[in-house]
Amino acid sequence: MEFFDFLFAGVAAFAIKVAPKIIRNTVETIKNELREIFPELSRTYSESRKTVVVTAKEIGEIDEEIQEREKSLRRGDNNADREQIENLNREKQKRYEKYQEAQGQCIRNQYEQDPGKFAKTELENGDENKLLYHTGLISLGKNCPSCGRLMRLQHRTVDNPTFNDFFWQCTGYYEGLTCRTFSFRPSDIDLVNRTDLNELSVDNETVTTIAKGVQGSIDRRLKVHLGEKDVDIVCPVHKTAMELKERRGSDDLPILDRFYLRCTHQGCSQTTKLKSFPQVAAYLQRQEGKGILF
Ligand SMILES: [Zn+2]
Ligand SMILES: [Zn+2]
Repeated sequence: MEFFDFLFAGVAAFAIKVAPKIIRNTVETIKNELREIFPELSRTYSESRKTVVVTAKEIGEIDEEIQEREKSLRRGDNNADREQIENLNREKQKRYEKYQEAQGQCIRNQYEQDPGKFAKTELENGDENKLLYHTGLISLGKNCPSCGRLMRLQHRTVDNPTFNDFFWQCTGYYEGLTCRTFSFRPSDIDLVNRTDLNELSVDNETVTTIAKGVQGSIDRRLKVHLGEKDVDIVCPVHKTAMELKERRGSDDLPILDRFYLRCTHQGCSQTTKLKSFPQVAAYLQRQEGKGILF
């Protein structure tokens, strides 16, 4: 990860560190670096994507078994359940590693198939949509400087987040570790993202203005997916795909306060809110192959 700063799974985007030396052929350099991190490659993107979907489903099934055992434990403490939970957690961790590998292969597949569909941007004010689009997604290879666990890119809940509102959050925080947040500095990176997605080819204001004009249709489209799992947004604690929910009795609420993804593990309070229109567009793109500006 020397050259990359982080990679977002789902709809591929990644950040490369602003290089101290001039890179003559960025495309070849990116290809080589991706090959080094993800040496295995499926024949096609759709094959790697299928592995993502299948492993996410398997993780969900293992987690359901764990929940059954936890229920049984609550009825009466016993060693058999405890041992089985340990085994299942180990199995789940193995699947999660396979899932992450497949997410990486998806990025490599997409880039190798058509590097021309990607462009490098220096993030400047007005480009916030390019980051907002990827919030909530797991990041590959962005490790916490104090405990080594993966981190998630988040932003403060404000109306129009600027780059200063973004920060990294260690997933170990949810396991009770004391490490919490780390600042995000856009000047350290160049973002490489797909150019064939309309929401990434215009500025943040344009996405937001257009989206505000079609809120009724966005609302109807999101409602169709209530209860569905989003394989790219996983609970940082349970590694299970989160499910789309709508706040109850909320028909008067603005659309950005209403929909969120939630972990399905009983008692888990992990959520990922859909807090910006670029993020909603990315959600719809993943579920329907179409965003908001099409
Ligand atoms: Zn940490
Ligand atoms: Zn959870």
